[in-house]
Amino acid sequence: MSDATETADLREDFVREMVRKDLRDGTYSRVQTRFPPEPNGYLHIGHAKAITLDFDLASEFDGTCNLRFDDTNPDTEDTAFVDGIIEDLTWLGFTPSGDPLYASDYFEQLYAWAESMIERGLAYVDDQDAETISAQRGGYGQPGIESPFRTRSSDENLDLFRRMRAGEFGEGTRVLRAKIDMQHENMQLRDPVMYRIRHEHHHRTGDRWHIYPTYDWAHGQSDAIEGVTHSLCTLEFDSHRALYDWYLEQLPLPHERPRQTEFARLELTHTVTSKRRLAGLVADGVVDGWDDPRMPTLRGLRRRGYPAAAIREFCSYIGVARTNSRHQIELLESFVRTHLNRVAPRRMAVLDPIRLVITNWPEGLVDHVEVVNNPEDPADGTRMVPFSGELFIERDDFMLDPPPKYFRLTPGREVRLRAAYFVTCTHADTDADGQPITVFATYDPATRGGNAPDGRKVKSTMHWVSAAHAVDGRAMLYDRLFSAEVPGDRTGDPLDDLNPRSRQVLDNCRFEPALADCPHGEVVQFERLGYFAHDTREPQLFHRTVGLRDEWARIAGRT
Ligand code: ATP
Ligand code: MG
Repeated sequence: MSDATETADLREDFVREMVRKDLRDGTYSRVQTRFPPEPNGYLHIGHAKAITLDFDLASEFDGTCNLRFDDTNPDTEDTAFVDGIIEDLTWLGFTPSGDPLYASDYFEQLYAWAESMIERGLAYVDDQDAETISAQRGGYGQPGIESPFRTRSSDENLDLFRRMRAGEFGEGTRVLRAKIDMQHENMQLRDPVMYRIRHEHHHRTGDRWHIYPTYDWAHGQSDAIEGVTHSLCTLEFDSHRALYDWYLEQLPLPHERPRQTEFARLELTHTVTSKRRLAGLVADGVVDGWDDPRMPTLRGLRRRGYPAAAIREFCSYIGVARTNSRHQIELLESFVRTHLNRVAPRRMAVLDPIRLVITNWPEGLVDHVEVVNNPEDPADGTRMVPFSGELFIERDDFMLDPPPKYFRLTPGREVRLRAAYFVTCTHADTDADGQPITVFATYDPATRGGNAPDGRKVKSTMHWVSAAHAVDGRAMLYDRLFSAEVPGDRTGDPLDDLNPRSRQVLDNCRFEPALADCPHGEVVQFERLGYFAHDTREPQLFHRTVGLRDEWARIAGRT
């Protein structure tokens, strides 16, 4: 057993078991993985699972993990996505071994290998269009039909392939195909396409190329060039594995031959994790951009206030398996809540304010009361919060004519204002419709700090802010972007399940003064309301990250 296996984390899953066996048997003497995003969108929560697996596996076995952009498709790729992916990966807490790598850096090598395949009679230029080629592929139990161009001479193939590269032919007029077996039971091996003609500008190679390799022709070879040992990808590539191996068997490789292993995608309820779908939501204006806090992108979750550590912990917790499954989004949220409960400072914010006037408060007096910052973290200390005779409280913390079991403020009722005083409501002013506009109360000076010396109890404790000291701002509350657990399950189109009320904007919020100094991106707990992240751009805009109630405990039957 090598040192690497002895020191490795003994987490059990089929991937780690396989790697341990590989090292024990000497199949590989080291571990090298890669994370291979296509730069045609930003990373989402599903990618976080792949990233956590690729990077953790490498580090557990003292190996390396590189970041490789799978940039073989010139139409949809963009350097903004490249930069964004690097930024998101760094935020998530992972550092690739070495500089980012690009499949496009191997175009020349791939091309040389393609020529050698042609010379050895293993590839040919097909002049048929995509539709014909696809129709001839046949299907399971249905024979394939050989292309009339399959028997071209190597010389003719080589000449045509060089002219394809030189840009002599129109898009779609020719392709290079591997010559494998048109009757193979795995459709992927029925003479797959290796190159297509594309007269497109590429984000790195510019206008140099007129042919671009397919995913299959590029991926395994890129792994091999880099010295990857364990190439992990999602289950939909299962049927591509035979082709991955076949290509590598034909080529002289600089390192050991890499091996592809598939694992289940991460899917979440109420969520879509497909870059194409997510790009559609952005393009159609359903959300405000890739970093809209309702998006399951890493930049959306980050803006929403999800701690990177909570996402990593979630990914480790769900583990890797070989069967696809959909996890409850409440489970992810519960990781977020547990993390934030430990670290988020508590603050007071009134999101839908109504004025509370304390009629026996000494004119002009401002009292500063001491409030604990985080009961879960005594080291976070306390702060002084100004209290005065005019406050704001939450509109729904007061009712003129409450139903039974309403324990908050109502005429005649005494409640605690958090860390300040007991107050007793006397009456309220109302508008023409009978709706309260100002609430009046008296306070008991003996209850300073929030406790009565005579030991009398109150049934509720409410948050508040002093009107004269309050900071104005906005808050956004979020609900699921898709109301169905499996978006698109009913009709096939996730857009049919869009929740029209996924965002509620509150423009008239009042925050305690400490929130004026809250750094952008910081997450705090608004007492009784949930965790909120200070927007990364707009001052005094707070996004609700998650509520306070553990929905997961309910779902898991723990309450
Ligand atoms: P999408 O379907 O969102 O376009 P993709 O697979 O085309 O995803 P890539 O950029 O090619 O996106 O993915 C990079 C890596 O992330 C691949 O190894 C892929 O298998 C993995 N990956 C993508 N989506 C998920 C997911 N939902 N769960 C786990 N891994 C994923
Ligand atoms: Mg892909």
